[in-house]
Amino acid sequence: KSLTGQEIRRAFKSFFAARGHQVLPSFSLVPHDDPTLLWINAGMAPLKPYFDGREIPEIPRIVDAQKCIRTNDIEEVGHTARHQTFFEMLGNFSFGDYFKKEAITWAWEFLTQVLEMEPERISVTIHVEDDEAFEIWHRQVGLPENRIYRGTEDNFWEIGEGPCGPCSEIFYDRGEAFGCGADDCKPGCDCDRFLEIWNLVFTQFNKGADGEYTPLPKRNIDTGSGLERLASLLQGVANNFETDLFRPIIDRTGEIAGRRYGESDEDDIHFKIVADHLRTVTFAIGDGVLPGNEGRSYIIRRLLRRAVRSGRRLGIEKPFMYQLVAVVDEIMGEDYPEIREKRSLIERVVRTEEERFHETLSGGEALLSELMAELGAKNETVISGTDAFRLYDTYGFPIDLTVEIAKESGFTVDRDGFDAELEAQRTRARQARQVAEGMQSQRGALETIDQPSKFVGYEELTVDAEIV
Ligand code: ATP
Ligand code: MG
Ligand code: MG
Ligand code: MG
Repeated sequence: KSLTGQEIRRAFKSFFAARGHQVLPSFSLVPHDDPTLLWINAGMAPLKPYFDGREIPEIPRIVDAQKCIRTNDIEEVGHTARHQTFFEMLGNFSFGDYFKKEAITWAWEFLTQVLEMEPERISVTIHVEDDEAFEIWHRQVGLPENRIYRGTEDNFWEIGEGPCGPCSEIFYDRGEAFGCGADDCKPGCDCDRFLEIWNLVFTQFNKGADGEYTPLPKRNIDTGSGLERLASLLQGVANNFETDLFRPIIDRTGEIAGRRYGESDEDDIHFKIVADHLRTVTFAIGDGVLPGNEGRSYIIRRLLRRAVRSGRRLGIEKPFMYQLVAVVDEIMGEDYPEIREKRSLIERVVRTEEERFHETLSGGEALLSELMAELGAKNETVISGTDAFRLYDTYGFPIDLTVEIAKESGFTVDRDGFDAELEAQRTRARQARQVAEGMQSQRGALETIDQPSKFVGYEELTVDAEIV
């Protein structure tokens, strides 16, 4: 059955609404009152207070489509069929109400009857000790034993502190053409053959700050299904980016670039990166995060710049991302009114940020061509690590761009030299921090270090390192 992204999103909500669930709009991407998370990265994240019993929901059954950001998947974007940094997670939740039986049988019913997916292509994983889940999948649903896989490492679900438990994941076999060809390729394999479409989490523990697991007073259900992945299957396309949720963004980018998606593998990667990062930036700004130099703001700045660089690889040399915001609005604005309402603000912020980055780029390029002219006069072809580092450090000029531009003019860059300079700078920064901390401890008890914010800082650093 072919359905649009919007139709799937709505079908999911009405299916569960008909089964007693309250339909909620997505929560903000910015976590509320949760120092352990930088972004909302799963449907259950904003519902934690209901899961651990701090708050009681009006109705113990909730269904929603939650905006999620996972920057830790950034390296996959454009390279796998199924990962984005921004995606929508469809979820149905039970708080001390129904448990495994309903969660499993409803998931099956939704996939095979509402979405009309081929039952024979569906397989599942369960936790190695979860005989209850096995019985339900095998006896009630009728799934053959050889399509129920016990115990991969992914069958226990947790994010930081909070509610967690064993889970059962649902996979769709796209066929050998998508596979890695390995003999042991099965659900859970990293390739794109067995597409993970839904994770059913049977939440029965709470993980404390001390890392201890304690049984929750009431057992819950937390499920998450990737909307773009369902759409890719129902629309019969090769990857999430070819669904109606992305394709218009890619096509518009293609018009601006004067190139077409599907003609070169390398271009396609950049088309996907642009489309993905644009959605992330659009929705983040829609939720009030402006590009900047710290925390979430910094991530948004880096994502935007990364997309601009992909745009350049497609031959786009001027600000263009801001023009794509309208396309995101057309695709999703009806179900996410915040995007429609804030569209002109988002466009302005994106445009200003693009313009600023282009200034950095042209400043850096001017310096670089002077440098290459000087080297050329001496018949040299290698840009030293020191010079590359100066461009990076003083002018904010990304190293891969230096390499790229150098290459176009027949120059190379001493990467090892650059890396050594970078490492030296990091060491200096570390030493400076130690000195500062030393001074702090001398000042004594007045300067207590705030643990929670320190933890966030650590997470930001990791994320940042991934984005550079
Ligand atoms: P994968 O193994 O494919 O990386 P996951 O196990 O990390 O997925 P979960 O944490 O179980 O994913 O999230 C629930 C669902 O959300 C997944 O089954 C998938 O459909 C979807 N999903 C997860 N990460 C992404 C992503 N980066 N982009 C798009 N959809 C995603
Ligand atoms: Mg993952
Ligand atoms: Mg997985
Ligand atoms: Mg999973």
